[in-house]
Amino acid sequence: MSSERQAIFDTGHAAGELARERFPSGVLVEEAHFEHNQAVRKTESLLTRTDIPAIYEAGFTFQGIRTRVDILKRSGHSAFDLVEVKSTTRVKPEHISDVAIQVYVVEGSGVLVNRAYLMHLNRGYSNQDGSPDLKQQFSLQDVTDAARSFIAERAAGELARMWAALQQRDAPNIETGSHCNIPYRCSFYGYCHQNSGSRSDRKIQH
Ligand code: SF4
Repeated sequence: MSSERQAIFDTGHAAGELARERFPSGVLVEEAHFEHNQAVRKTESLLTRTDIPAIYEAGFTFQGIRTRVDILKRSGHSAFDLVEVKSTTRVKPEHISDVAIQVYVVEGSGVLVNRAYLMHLNRGYSNQDGSPDLKQQFSLQDVTDAARSFIAERAAGELARMWAALQQRDAPNIETGSHCNIPYRCSFYGYCHQNSGSRSDRKIQH
């Protein structure tokens, strides 16, 4: 992992851990991402515990799509609010699709989602005395309607397109370009840009 990606990862990790304090007394699904099936089983067991107000890093699989939810907060007896934590200072378009797919997978797994939120850092907040005020440090934005619109209008098509690409024997023949960095730098950036003076002068076989 590059130092740049590591820094983003560390910042995101720290924000995620701090954000949990805003939904206290929850239980963390500690299994690592490569232990996904165990995480799903642990989550299934925690979902039955009505005495637990929140689950952190809950794991789900639906239609072959795996997700871990930053915070799943109990909302009534049989529904949950889903909270995705971002270490950015505003909601970006790609965050909506991220939340939408999580809602799609969680509900596909049989868990009803009441509201979906993006929790991001509050740009105007400055912590003067060393004790963070979590209500001010983070902004909670309700993106339920946007996420549900994405699911209704785009999720099926986008997922079908991705599955079709994954099932091809050969990787798509695509030129490098701005999509290699936007919205995130691609994990294959180094591979695709090796021996390349500019990113647009080379076609790559994935
Ligand atoms: S796989 Fe290569 S060409 Fe495709 S987005 Fe990533 S870096 Fe760019």
